[in-house]
Amino acid sequence: MEPKLYDTIIVGGGPGGYTAALYTARAGLSTLVIEKLSPGGQMATTDQVDNYPGFPEGVNGFELAMKMQESAQRFGAETHYGEAVKLELAVSPKRIVTDSGEFLAKTVILSTGASPRELGVAGEQELRGKGVSYCATCDGMFYKDKTVAIVGGGNTAAADALYLSKLCKKVYLIHRRDTLRASRVYLEPLKSRENIEFVWDSEVTALHHEEKLTGVTVRNKKTSEEQIFSCDGLFVAVGNVPNSGLFAGQVNLTENGYVDADETTRTNLPGVFAIGDVRNKPLRQIITAAADGAVASQFAEEYVSLQGESITE
Ligand code: NAP
Repeated sequence: MEPKLYDTIIVGGGPGGYTAALYTARAGLSTLVIEKLSPGGQMATTDQVDNYPGFPEGVNGFELAMKMQESAQRFGAETHYGEAVKLELAVSPKRIVTDSGEFLAKTVILSTGASPRELGVAGEQELRGKGVSYCATCDGMFYKDKTVAIVGGGNTAAADALYLSKLCKKVYLIHRRDTLRASRVYLEPLKSRENIEFVWDSEVTALHHEEKLTGVTVRNKKTSEEQIFSCDGLFVAVGNVPNSGLFAGQVNLTENGYVDADETTRTNLPGVFAIGDVRNKPLRQIITAAADGAVASQFAEEYVSLQGESITE
């Protein structure tokens, strides 16, 4: 049996993906979101979102994700839970193969987001889930009243430090420079938490463990002095890498692996758009991902009405 044909298939159900789905479904396009796990992407792992308008008290990221999915469903957008394993994007209609079904689409919106970057220290992968974590809100509760270290100096590291300082006995914030790149809004609260200790100009060079992590060696980059910090958990917050491997070779990427699409979200392939954290852009936030979704839907709709009608239903 020939796979079902949709006007638009959105690969990835984060805030960008479900905003695109809301707009395309509301515009009357048949819409499918392919999501491998659960709606929201990285946003769903955020405890408190304060910079998405409309929520004066802030909102939990998972809750916001569910609301975004419901908003799109209200207009008929469907979700298929499965992992996309192969995309044929240069053909018409486009073909999406998942680990649990195949679909055809007149237009495809790539919304695969980004994943946490690894530190690259020996033993890191083996200790994942045994003391090494990339998500403070997912795993923080395992370290209640314990000692943890966070590596990074961006907004994620700052937000993680604040979140973990409420749960943990002690939090080391290890950063490779002597200033954070995190937004100013985090700085005062970070300084005022008595159980947060900053470890500046430093990098983690070794992980100590028995069955689980027991500590980290930290090297001061200026003095080369090494010190061992005992800790039960290490939270890695050193940025993200775009999830673009699946369509590399079809869609043009930047040298850092982001999809090379401008503010129209159009890629080099007709009928293929890229939105959110996987797109090359200056600000990666929930609201900019959502904005991309709205823009992509506009051009997807235009593509379907101008060219998509020639595709056999
Ligand atoms: P980020 O802004 O790219 O920061 C990564 C941090 O990790 C930087 O401080 C960087 O150091 C450090 N780093 C990078 N590679 C490293 C390595 N190999 N070893 C040690 N340190 C390393 O990443 P992010 O904090 O995850 O944020 C990602 C995006 O999400 C950003 O656009 C951010 O604004 C957004 N975000 C926003 C919020 C919010 O608005 N509330 C919350 C979370 C995330 P240097 O500073 O020396 O480069």
